[in-house]
Amino acid sequence: MIDGWKRTESFNCPKCKDREMIYNSELDAMVFCECRERKQYERILKNSGISEAFRKKSFRNYSDKGIDILKKAKKKAVNYIKKFDEIRNTEKNSIAFLGQVGAGKTHLSIAIANNLMSKNIGVLYMQYREDIVKIKQVANDEINYSNAINPYKNASVLLIDDLFKKATYKDRLGNEILNDADARVMFEIINYRYLKRAPIIVSSEYTVNKLLDLDEAIGSRIIQMCEDRTIEFVGEKLNHRLYKLVI
Ligand SMILES: [Zn+2]
Repeated sequence: MIDGWKRTESFNCPKCKDREMIYNSELDAMVFCECRERKQYERILKNSGISEAFRKKSFRNYSDKGIDILKKAKKKAVNYIKKFDEIRNTEKNSIAFLGQVGAGKTHLSIAIANNLMSKNIGVLYMQYREDIVKIKQVANDEINYSNAINPYKNASVLLIDDLFKKATYKDRLGNEILNDADARVMFEIINYRYLKRAPIIVSSEYTVNKLLDLDEAIGSRIIQMCEDRTIEFVGEKLNHRLYKLVI
């Protein structure tokens, strides 16, 4: 072998040579390649300047800090990946990481997303606090509203990071209430995906009970979609131990 003799072409997707279109002989037409959706979402990550940080989060560098519940959470996440093909079109095809800060909920969610993306499965990343604003801003304009919300409804998989972050206020009695505008947008997205059996990966500081409290229609659908893949981080113990370990 002579080095450099043959021009080697390396494509991210050998199937379409990164053109994102392939010829379908049955249809006698060019169609989108299976890599297209993933690449679209990768471009969105790149444009938001977070693709580097996103790609760095893997199962390997998730720290369980020797804590049982974190080990279990990681196991559930890895297991979700293994089972994904089998469950993706079923009613219970989703996963949620809920509760306390510091448990690495976002890390595990993104590790799952990276894993699915490596198999050409499109995972759209919804950074809740930022992305919901873009949808709410155009709520009074039908066409722009559809354009803004549709990607979150139609993505093969949707990762909702930090669901309901800054979406609540306190009423006069001190009860935490979900903003109407947030509730409306999220019900539309979640209900659509629930009916279509389209998977979601959710991270939120709210626990199951709190989600149901804030909005039963949204909360109950999320719980139904995730069921035994709902991982809750609660309790003083975890907090205490985490606190000690972080210091
Ligand atoms: Zn391709």
